[in-house]
Amino acid sequence: MNVSVDHYPPAFEGRDYEHRPYVDCKNWIGGRWEDASQGRTLVVENPRHGLPLGTVALSGAEDVAQAVAAAKAAFPLWRATPLKERVQVLYRMKALMEQHVEELTWLLSHENGKTYSEAKGSVLKGIECLEMGISLPNMVPGGQLDVSRGVNCEVTYEPLGVCAGIVPFNFPTMVPLWMLPQALVAGNSFVLKPSEQVPYGSMKLAALFREAGLPDGVFNVVNGSRDAVEALCDHPDIQALAFVGSTRVARIVYERSAKSGKRVLCLGGAKNHLIVVPDADLQLTSTNVPASAFGCAGQRCMAASVMLAVGDVDHIIDAMVENANAMTLGEHMGAINLPESVERITRYITDAEARGAKILVDGRQAAVDGNPGHWIGPTIIDHVTKDMPAGSEEIFGPVLSIVRLDTVDEAIAHENGSAYGNAAAVFTTNGGTARYVMERVSAGMCGVNIGVPVPREPFAFGGWNDSKFGHGDLTGFDGYRFWTRPRKTTTKWAEQTDQTWMG
Ligand code: NAD
Repeated sequence: MNVSVDHYPPAFEGRDYEHRPYVDCKNWIGGRWEDASQGRTLVVENPRHGLPLGTVALSGAEDVAQAVAAAKAAFPLWRATPLKERVQVLYRMKALMEQHVEELTWLLSHENGKTYSEAKGSVLKGIECLEMGISLPNMVPGGQLDVSRGVNCEVTYEPLGVCAGIVPFNFPTMVPLWMLPQALVAGNSFVLKPSEQVPYGSMKLAALFREAGLPDGVFNVVNGSRDAVEALCDHPDIQALAFVGSTRVARIVYERSAKSGKRVLCLGGAKNHLIVVPDADLQLTSTNVPASAFGCAGQRCMAASVMLAVGDVDHIIDAMVENANAMTLGEHMGAINLPESVERITRYITDAEARGAKILVDGRQAAVDGNPGHWIGPTIIDHVTKDMPAGSEEIFGPVLSIVRLDTVDEAIAHENGSAYGNAAAVFTTNGGTARYVMERVSAGMCGVNIGVPVPREPFAFGGWNDSKFGHGDLTGFDGYRFWTRPRKTTTKWAEQTDQTWMG
């Protein structure tokens, strides 16, 4: 297998992890960088090298309380700022992100291990989310209607107050921007808890928001892990909380936050199924399926995890194997976040092999000589069954399990049997087959001949079943609804001589 650890454009030559522009990630509270009150920190590693980038503050309840107090103090003035003025901050933020796109990409790639092009793609997607926030004043001023003679009813979307977001390691810049544009444009103040594995992107966002003119205290960052999350769930002054991460933690956060009366929406993990039938286009399918499974090293909630191979699709599988073998680590695929994750992913592959599945492409020996980074190459396992952990559990690595089936109905039943429901797709050249499958799969985000069917703005992001806890979706217009509450105001100014009892 080809290996290229540092695939960077010339602008980055000579800049390595040793450059370390942000060694210590502190908390950003009320417009100041603050250490965690107990002084606890954690080392942050570069997954491509396995070497330290710096440290991150590990916050507790006191730090969360400090951030919430700052957000609460900033809320009245921000809420009173006209919507058209609030949105100007986002316009400037977009310009600043575009200006700093290389640095944001560099940071993201180093803290997360993504390839340069994947990192840049996710920064650009984050900018697209800002554009959605920028559009909101033109889309959602509310609505009004004369509901009776001389009586008018109006709905306006009001901010909730202090809101919070908890995000995972895999998209450090983009996922916070699934939440912030809508929440901030709506007039809320916000406390973000980044993943402790990748705190640098959020630090940079905080610095850029300040430069864009966001008043101090409107956006705060509290770093840390479980203690910080639990304090956010419990804090009585947080009105709404969104979480993105694994299903295990999503369920805990959902239940715990609801206990303190918060509005809560938690996006969880996934096990995404792609159904491939014999009439599928060879070129399109044999490139899209591996791209979905191995892009971002399989560390995305929209990654293909199971290919449901209906009938004889051996010619497509052969081409997929060829494409997977041609991938270069570090160039086409990035690193795995942690050594523990490499072990977990390896266990799934080895277990499937021991249970009789056939390894067509084996990424287990993908370590780079003399390099302590965390690597697994693209892996394709054939003849997986649903009773194997590789066939039913989220692996969150570059592993595609192929399950062999005879009919489309068997494939649909298999997909429907999954506990998750984030994404599902079908690869076919037959419109009838596509429609039949789309009407029957049990997933919130579906694709026809698309391996990563992310509903881009203004459509909202969110799965079904154990991939989501709570009502509504994040991003898009649904995101705006989540971070606001509708106020209905009914007005009558003059007695109507012709009024009925309804007046
Ligand atoms: P994770 O659940 O381990 O962590 C997410 C957040 O929860 C982090 O901020 C982390 O600090 C915190 N956390 C971790 N353990 C905790 C605990 N015991 N108690 C309280 N808080 C805790 O997820 P991850 O490993 O960072 O990210 C990968 C997971 O996220 C995958 O399952 C992936 O499918 C999922 N994900 C889902 C979506 C989606 O939109 N559905 C998007 C991206 C990632």
